[in-house]
Amino acid sequence: MSERKVRVRFAPSPTGPLHIGGVRTALYNYLFARQHGGDFIFRIEDTDSHRFVPGAEEYIIESFKWLGLEFDEGVGIGGDCGPYRQSERRDIYKRYVQVLIDAGKAYYAFDTPSELEAKRAEVKNFQYDASTRMAMRNSLSLPADEVARLLDSGAAYVVRFKIEPGEDVHVNDIIRGDVVINSSILDDKVLYKSADGLPTYHLANIVDDHLMRVSHVIRGEEWLPSAPLHMLLYRAFGWEDTMPEFAHLPLLLKPEGNGKLSKRDGDRLGFPVFPLEWHDPKTGEVSSGYREAGYLPEAVINFLALLGWNPGTEQELMSLDELIHLFDLRRCSKAGAKFDFEKCKWFNHQYIQRCDDTDLARQMLPQMQAEGVTAPLDKVAKVVGMMKGRVSFVKELWDTCRFFFVAPTDYDEKTRKKRWKEESPRQMLELADVLEGIDDFSLHNQERIVMQWIEDKGYNTGIIMNAFRLAIVGEGKGPQMFDITEVLGKEETLRRLRRAVEALN
Ligand code: GLU
Repeated sequence: MSERKVRVRFAPSPTGPLHIGGVRTALYNYLFARQHGGDFIFRIEDTDSHRFVPGAEEYIIESFKWLGLEFDEGVGIGGDCGPYRQSERRDIYKRYVQVLIDAGKAYYAFDTPSELEAKRAEVKNFQYDASTRMAMRNSLSLPADEVARLLDSGAAYVVRFKIEPGEDVHVNDIIRGDVVINSSILDDKVLYKSADGLPTYHLANIVDDHLMRVSHVIRGEEWLPSAPLHMLLYRAFGWEDTMPEFAHLPLLLKPEGNGKLSKRDGDRLGFPVFPLEWHDPKTGEVSSGYREAGYLPEAVINFLALLGWNPGTEQELMSLDELIHLFDLRRCSKAGAKFDFEKCKWFNHQYIQRCDDTDLARQMLPQMQAEGVTAPLDKVAKVVGMMKGRVSFVKELWDTCRFFFVAPTDYDEKTRKKRWKEESPRQMLELADVLEGIDDFSLHNQERIVMQWIEDKGYNTGIIMNAFRLAIVGEGKGPQMFDITEVLGKEETLRRLRRAVEALN
């Protein structure tokens, strides 16, 4: 790779919420930039005014804030290549369009939409290119004075790129290698429209990558077909020497693997395809987001990092710092990556295990308070530490931990039938007396004394412990009994035991 400073950009169009595939693209750019001590630029490509959606830009910014991926330069940050919103760069594009026209590499075309439509109806697979352009109304086919008259009169026009046919265009892609297409299959792309005074995506994209000194273009596979045209544009401007290197990332595929991941797959299988919840300003439709669904940003990042790349080892859990260290564009796959959302849940589970118990406890407090339950934070944290291994989402914690704070009032019928024996009431009252006599109510001391009592009496440990659990928890689940009773304390344990005997008789 070249010696120049690494500068990459994430350049979304604000046409709606950021798709999770876009987040993956941004992440790979971020990792690459950080790994090389380079810059990560945030550019908004909003030259297609018809597709502009209010709120989309703010949504994108908030998404990255949540994910903790910071830009160095761009919209909302600043930098020496601004403005970074393309709609604010009209004059710049106009100047560069003129450069191409003056060099004879682009031309004015005056064909009206209905003329173009008529042509398409008349000629099957019509393409505006070297073979057809002289039959159209443009500055190549019309006399110069007619062109001047049209321009003076303010006639609407577009500027088209004059593509020379019959040439193999090579795109040297870091992931895909040498991609070749023949220029004859390209049409004379529209670069600029007088109607709104704005360039099209292709021109704005190239001009900005050049002016923003972008060294690497890392983007989704869907942009690969544009790359040959972009090569030709760089060449037309004489910018080959500073042309960025390209890397087109693999597609994200449906969980089943057949075809491109879409929002419908998320709706169908119940997983979000957007980082944050999105409220469509037009339809009012609400689409779920990873944040609101309870995913930790670290888990989402780790999950996305492995969709199309792997470190070459079995390692799956990687912090952002590790990812920065290990990431390698050359190890990205060409083949599409299946969007295995169950794996994302697994990552979330893993990252919850790494969370600080007190932090998790604090996140659980609102749910506790909503049920009117209060407890000292250190006790809540202790319970969370014991129970977090059983959940994949923070929001599942309270349900899992509740029985520590709320005594059972009903007892699971199935468990009762199976675990509450005839002798259980008597044994549990005896157990209550045994526990009452214990001063040091620590886990080990309780266990030692209770086990000794079971042995002395010749009781069946399973029968005792199962009934004990039903009495304390209200059902058959939970961690080790003495882990539970240590947290509950003697008084509460006795209360629950004696109450259960009454209730279950
Ligand atoms: N505006 C394009 C997009 O929405 C950018 C493509 C590129 O990175 O060149 O993804």
